[in-house]
Amino acid sequence: MPGIWWIRRDLRLADNPTLIEAIRHGGVVPLFIIDPILAKPDWQRRNHFLFQGLEVLGASLAEMGSGLVIRIGKPAKILPVVMAETGADVIYAEEDYTPTARSRDASLATSLPIKFVHGQTVHPPLFVTKEDGSPYTVYTPFSKKWKSLLPTQLQPASTPVSLGSPILPASDALPAHTPSPYFPAGEKEAQRRLNQFAHAAIHHYAEDRDRMDLDGTSVLSPYLRFGMVSIRQAAAAAMAAQAEARKLGLDPRGAEVWLNELIWREFYINILYAFPNVMRESFNPDLRNIPWMNDQASFNAWTNGQTGIPVVDAAMRQLQETGWMHNRARMITASFLVKDMLIDWRLGERWFWKMLLDADPAANNGGWQWTAGTGTDAAPYFRVFNPTLQGQKFDPVGDYVRRWVPELAKVPTSQIHTPWLLSPMEQQLAGCRIGIDYPAPIIDHAIARDRVLHAYKSGVISKER
Ligand code: FAD
Repeated sequence: MPGIWWIRRDLRLADNPTLIEAIRHGGVVPLFIIDPILAKPDWQRRNHFLFQGLEVLGASLAEMGSGLVIRIGKPAKILPVVMAETGADVIYAEEDYTPTARSRDASLATSLPIKFVHGQTVHPPLFVTKEDGSPYTVYTPFSKKWKSLLPTQLQPASTPVSLGSPILPASDALPAHTPSPYFPAGEKEAQRRLNQFAHAAIHHYAEDRDRMDLDGTSVLSPYLRFGMVSIRQAAAAAMAAQAEARKLGLDPRGAEVWLNELIWREFYINILYAFPNVMRESFNPDLRNIPWMNDQASFNAWTNGQTGIPVVDAAMRQLQETGWMHNRARMITASFLVKDMLIDWRLGERWFWKMLLDADPAANNGGWQWTAGTGTDAAPYFRVFNPTLQGQKFDPVGDYVRRWVPELAKVPTSQIHTPWLLSPMEQQLAGCRIGIDYPAPIIDHAIARDRVLHAYKSGVISKER
């Protein structure tokens, strides 16, 4: 009897444990269900990437003599219908660890024969724990234990030759979508990026990863988010790159640091799994009463890249245009919203959720809480990023700013991160009059710094009362 491969966040054929299980069972019916939840505005941007990914997957399946069945509706309704239509007696699905997915899946499993297969992480959630079985809440010991539990060699599985030949039922059409010029979707593109990165830039990752003006990171996050490449393939590539570096006399630290980033992904998945309340409130209970200002005009300036702080505006416009933002830029913009503008980190988290192609509940929440200083492993809340210094350090000649804020294209490098310090004559020469062509800074960082420290302290005190 055939089995259904219910595709969710595993849009790939290679190294897919769920697909392997389904093939072992018999003929495979590949099914993707477009839940009406995806019609929400928060999903619009990611849908283009997702639908293109499905189109590419469908074409690869067709080349193998199979196909992809798309159905639009609630899984609880669609799954039994497709089972009846195909005679399938079991459904295989990759286990998804977000709170929403867990509660949906638990409810489906009460009435349907679903087998959930581990595949979204290298180690399943709560496999890497302290000696007493409790979850780690600090990254470094987690990563050490994570590495100690890793087999010496990870061997990702290759693409299967055939999925059997069950008769596939009719498919709904994929909704219209526009491919992104920045992120062509699909497994081939993901593999191309991984191979390219793992044989070149990875070796400089330790030095370059914070530089917003360089292509120093893998830019694989949207592909990892939808499983167009597996995390095991990425980890195996990191380990192979380490070995290659040693062989060629290169610095193996780059590959090691990149592997550490993959472990951060897994750390936050563990945190959200063990502490689902972080989706609603600060991980640190002492910081749940901060008196946020939540000024709407400031929030709008931030989302539109009109704060007058060049690096913040560059990053927010990059996000708006491409659906992706460099990690250092995420930290700078998040810190600016929370600490300089005193806006609740949850509002920033929601905006990123709406805008990012790689938006993932665990990583997004972890990144926001880390930056706000309210989370696990938190940078102490009194450490406040100075966005101008961050810009000068991690975009030293201003290429990143010039690319995304064209108004500043002719500003000399010495003032690219502080254009408001140009004299009126210099502004004329640079074709950028502050307050007319480009905004004056919305906030004085020194004043904002004192204000946030006071607010955080008063939040703690009001809780203690
Ligand atoms: P690389 O530097 O090449 O790293 C490789 C992979 O490791 C990434 O693709 C990602 O899967 C993982 N990774 C790297 N850094 C982190 C991290 N700090 N936390 C978790 N995983 C990490 N990442 C997301 O995937 N989705 C999000 O929604 C998300 N939101 C974020 C929000 C904030 C405020 C911050 C500060 C960070 C956020 N990150 C998020 C983490 C990180 O910024 C991105 O993963 C990274 O920028 C993606 O680019 P890359 O693929 O080139 O990463």
